[in-house]
Amino acid sequence: MKLKEKIDEIYSYLEDSSNFKAGKVDKVYIPENEEEVCDILEICAKTNKPITISGAGTGTVGGRIPLEGDILSTEALNKIINLSPEEKTASLQAGVIVDDFLKYIENFNLFYPPFPTERTAFIGGNISTNASGEYSFKFGPTRNYVKRIKLILTTGKILEIKRGEIFEKNGFIDYGIFKVPLPSYRTPDVKSSAGYYSKDGMDGIDLIIGSEGTLGVITEVEVSLIENLPPRFIMIMFLKNEENIPQIIKKIKGKKDELEIYSLEFFDKKALLFLKNDFPFIPDDTCAIYIEGKNEIKKIEKWIEISEEIAAIDTVIGEDPHNYKKLIDFRHRLPENINSYFKKIGTTKIAVDAAVPESKFEDLYMFYRKIIQENSEIHSILFGHIGENHLHFNLFPINERQKEISYKIYEESVKKAVSLGGTGFAEHGIGKIKHKYLEIMYGKQAILDMARIKKIFDPYCILSLDNIFPKEYLKLV
Ligand SMILES: Cc1cc2nc3c(=O)[nH]c(=O)nc-3n(C[C@H](O)[C@H](O)[C@H](O)COP(=O)(O)OP(=O)(O)OC[C@H]3O[C@@H](n4cnc5c(N)ncnc54)[C@H](O)[C@@H]3O)c2cc1C
Repeated sequence: MKLKEKIDEIYSYLEDSSNFKAGKVDKVYIPENEEEVCDILEICAKTNKPITISGAGTGTVGGRIPLEGDILSTEALNKIINLSPEEKTASLQAGVIVDDFLKYIENFNLFYPPFPTERTAFIGGNISTNASGEYSFKFGPTRNYVKRIKLILTTGKILEIKRGEIFEKNGFIDYGIFKVPLPSYRTPDVKSSAGYYSKDGMDGIDLIIGSEGTLGVITEVEVSLIENLPPRFIMIMFLKNEENIPQIIKKIKGKKDELEIYSLEFFDKKALLFLKNDFPFIPDDTCAIYIEGKNEIKKIEKWIEISEEIAAIDTVIGEDPHNYKKLIDFRHRLPENINSYFKKIGTTKIAVDAAVPESKFEDLYMFYRKIIQENSEIHSILFGHIGENHLHFNLFPINERQKEISYKIYEESVKKAVSLGGTGFAEHGIGKIKHKYLEIMYGKQAILDMARIKKIFDPYCILSLDNIFPKEYLKLV
């Protein structure tokens, strides 16, 4: 086991992709096997020392950054244990970098469908946040591909949970070593990463997925794979009218199966302004629908028909490797350009991340449009995973007054999404920066139910404290 204690060695563990600055840490443990994970947890339990689990640090909500105590980094648990091309499954340790895994399985003509957008993340981090990815429109989030999890608890016990073996029954999930009550709230039927998963009859493994390091250390997982994807192409359709986007998306989704769509994204006019310098082909004063589909001539012809039907004023296609790569870059460049912009002007991005059921998407979209029109002095952009009824609504306040208004808009947006049967948090999790809004989504009782569950898994109350809810809730249950 490695141990890091010097400030210059441990400083980087107090950062992730959020702007969370309140982190403090005494030492960083880097275990190389499960026995060492058990030893570390035993030391911490005996001395009542908080310990926070760290993956690759690409999270956006401060989840791996402790407010006190030590860190357990999973970086040395990085072995691919077994790959079965026949069964299309793989077992791997939690610290495997997703990109390394994808490259390895490609040699066997296999693909890992969650295909997370940020592929320097660890598989354990992806499972702990139920990450979604570039093709989650087609394949759904990480949850759908997790077959088995090995979880080490602060009590030193090891839970090995296989999908399909333990289910909620009569209000409880019976893990053998303890029973966990189903919380009073239910996770909405939309893309969501808002606290512990809760559904009637749910599989016990689903409670662990998306639990943000609060229940135990995931050391090993088994995931399911599919055959490598067929060649794909990208088309970007530029449109003048932003008002009728929901109707257009509905129309496209109606042809989803025949079109074989992998991703369906949207960029509003202001979002495209962030890309204009890098991609001069963007026509002035337009928004865009971005799709990735199966690269077959008949399908491309169908898309050209669609772009005419929806009155696209211009269309670009990436079907050969060079142009495909260029348009992938188009999609990835926006978050980068936004981040460097808000760093430069020294403001904090306030990022609404709501998703709603398909039938309610138009309501949410029009709600955002109204806010944008009524608050035109605040710079904002609307973009993202429109196929999954999930858009990123980013606000960039430049003074205290705008900041206050933007936080109010954030709160109102969470309330609106929840009132439409959706979630305030479609991806990324809650971490340490969204507690207040999770309580707005589910209510106080739900947070107490979550604290009760955490205490069953982690009776010493030392593991990844302040993730999902403030640690003070643990004293109330
Ligand atoms: C440019 C960019 C784009 C992104 N796009 C997306 C996106 O499209 N969709 C999306 O969902 N996310 C996205 N993310 C966020 C991020 O990549 C994910 O949240 C990712 O899953 C975090 O993995 P990580 O290994 O970096 O974990 P960390 O940031 O290190 O940790 C995340 C959380 O997981 C816990 N954890 C980590 N490993 C374990 C373990 N072994 N056992 C128990 N708990 C553990 C930590 O305690 C923490 O709470 C993006 C990030 C960036 C920087």
